[in-house]
Amino acid sequence: MLLCSNMYTIETCPCCQSKEVHARWAIIAPFLAHYAVGRPPFLCKLLECSNCSFRFFDSRLAPDEVDRLYSGYRGERYFAERHRWEFWYSRKVNDGIGSDPEEIAARVAGLERLFLPHVNHATVKTVLDYGGDRGQFIPNSLGTNKFVFELSDAVPVHGVTRIGSEQELNRMKFDFIMASGVLEHCSEPASVLEQLRSCQNPGSLLCIEVPYERYGIGFAGKGRLYRSYLNTLLHFPAALVAVDFYSAAARIRLGHIPPLGFVKCHEHLNFFNKNSMNALLHRTGFEVVDSRIECIAKYPARVETLHILARLR
Ligand SMILES: [Zn+2]
Repeated sequence: MLLCSNMYTIETCPCCQSKEVHARWAIIAPFLAHYAVGRPPFLCKLLECSNCSFRFFDSRLAPDEVDRLYSGYRGERYFAERHRWEFWYSRKVNDGIGSDPEEIAARVAGLERLFLPHVNHATVKTVLDYGGDRGQFIPNSLGTNKFVFELSDAVPVHGVTRIGSEQELNRMKFDFIMASGVLEHCSEPASVLEQLRSCQNPGSLLCIEVPYERYGIGFAGKGRLYRSYLNTLLHFPAALVAVDFYSAAARIRLGHIPPLGFVKCHEHLNFFNKNSMNALLHRTGFEVVDSRIECIAKYPARVETLHILARLR
């Protein structure tokens, strides 16, 4: 792979634009570095905003890196490179994400619980699922014309039309827009919300779903000693993979980064809570109608999701 750009860094909170942030050392995941950035892994920082408590990585993917990461998302080359650096990332997990009927039903039910009380079905005709894979998460009960905006070539499910380019999207307006599992990946989440705002009809609702990931980061260091430790790990790929596995297992099972473990910057660049999501929505011209944190799975690990329903201010 060609050596290309090396991500870009930000120091200001993307949600509330505060410059008051706390930093901890972290590592760009070996998979992300090799597959999307085109270089060995390197250090970055996990920042937490003192104002709105948003957590985010200072390193952000440039447009060409986003293309490389998501154009063949979870395809053969993606799986091979990811499994090479994360032996615990199995074929079953890779192929199951987004296609497990139970997962689809649980996610659709979660969305319906949040927004059905607020929806006037007589006024909702056109529905967009932004970044919605095959459109399989659009509830049957919602709208008559259903669209999915998806840059990958996923074939949409029956009854859903794919929009494959931003130019096409920008010419359209919708009565209801969903964005599930999108904003945590975005280098510039405010730009995405501004684009969605311009695609809304007056009175339209916007339904956002992001993972609620607020694991403990107390053992991720801030100082020179911890930075030296991480730099040493970067020189020994086998040790890096072993500590990565140990860190990921503790994060998933125990809900915190373990002693001598590390936080890694992987596909999720953003970690929202209600406060930071409110700040981002306010800054991009929306007001929150309803929000909740739902537990969608308890085994093998607790998985929580933040649902937000918003409309134009
Ligand atoms: Zn902030």
